[in-house]
Amino acid sequence: MTKRMPVVAANWKMNGSRELVNQVLLQIKQSGVCQDIEVVISPPATLYSYFDEQKKIHELDHVFLAAQNINELDNGALTGEISVGLAKESGCQWVICGHSERRSLFKETSKVTAKKFMKALNAGLKPILCVGETTEEKETGKTFSRLTAQIEAVMHLGGKQAFKDCLIAYEPIWAVGTGQAASPELAQEIHRFIRGMIASICPETAKTVRILYGGSIKPENAAALFSQPDIDGGLIGGAGLVPEQFIKICQLA
Ligand code: PEP
Repeated sequence: MTKRMPVVAANWKMNGSRELVNQVLLQIKQSGVCQDIEVVISPPATLYSYFDEQKKIHELDHVFLAAQNINELDNGALTGEISVGLAKESGCQWVICGHSERRSLFKETSKVTAKKFMKALNAGLKPILCVGETTEEKETGKTFSRLTAQIEAVMHLGGKQAFKDCLIAYEPIWAVGTGQAASPELAQEIHRFIRGMIASICPETAKTVRILYGGSIKPENAAALFSQPDIDGGLIGGAGLVPEQFIKICQLA
């Protein structure tokens, strides 16, 4: 079986501060967690450069900086938007694409998400493709068709090469920020389905692509989720803002 390096990523959304950057980096360093896993942190854009500077000062090579979003265009009259070039210049190495909040609150379609994914990839950054179904889709048996459409949008644009250097995060919307994580068995079933989809276009990539689970991960439920064969780590929201909880989750990965 192929060994995949676990990844734990924190999405701070519109939260955080320089002080939180300092605390998290210090605790990561002191705990030594990033020797065996990759840690990805995604603070708000105003903190990208500061985070990058501090991570270099602490010599944390296994800690990566992710943009929360990029625009699919390179430049233009788009007030408030950030291009992939700007994110890269600010030190970002990864880009979250298609988080459920972007899809629902900002009406981002799977096609636009796929364009952002390819922008990141073509600029040498690693995309983290978020996919997941709503409560209604789950209850009406549409989980697999929803995930298929979200992943196929990237396949259509990028072909089988697209998944070679990315992360996929399965984040059921009913589990994000609700305190109700998917059961390890259900999450495993879906992760296996996603890996199977990748295998259908590229069996080799399917063995190496890392698929993260996201949705109400806490120190209490992380071990059971991470022990599933197709779960390679987690994308963390709320618990990622509490350094002690985040470090504990990293240790469990
Ligand atoms: C998220 O927003 O991506 C997320 C997983 O949040 P939480 O961990 O708070 O459910």
